[in-house]
Amino acid sequence: MDCLFCKIANNEIPANIVYRDDLIMIFDDINPQAPHHKLIVPVNHISTLNDLHGEDDDLVGHMVQSGAMLAKELGIAEEGYRVVFNCNAGAGQTVFHIHAHLLGGRQMSWPPG
Ligand code: 5GP
Ligand code: ZN
Repeated sequence: MDCLFCKIANNEIPANIVYRDDLIMIFDDINPQAPHHKLIVPVNHISTLNDLHGEDDDLVGHMVQSGAMLAKELGIAEEGYRVVFNCNAGAGQTVFHIHAHLLGGRQMSWPPG
C-alpha cells in the first residue's frame, strides 16, 4: 500500500522515532506546529477514525495513554498539552493512516482553526 506512515513503520522512510512497541510508534512531526509536536501512529494501517471498530479500543486507548506518558517525560504535562485526531479532509487530515498529534510547549487557543 502506498502509505507514508506504513513506509515509516516498515523503515522505508526515515523518521525520528522516540518510542515504538508492537502496536504504535511515536515520532517527530516533520512540520512542527508547536515546540513539541509528536505523531502517535499505529503500526498497522487504519485510514481514518471512521474505520475504527470495537476491537481497536485497546489500541486507541494505548495511543492516548502513551501521549500522556510522553507529555510527562517531555515536562509539559502540568502546563498543558493537546492530543488531537483529524478525521478526513474537512478536519485537515492529510495522511490517511490514523495518528494522534501531541502538541505542547506553547499556549494553545480554542476553538482550533
Ligand atoms: P494530518 O494533517 O493528517 O492530521 O497530519 C499529518 C501530519 O504528518 C502533518 O502534521 C505533517 O506535518 C506530518 N508529515 C507529513 N509528511 C511527513 C513525513 O514525511 N514525516 C513526518 N515525520 N511527518 C510528516
Ligand atoms: Zn498506512
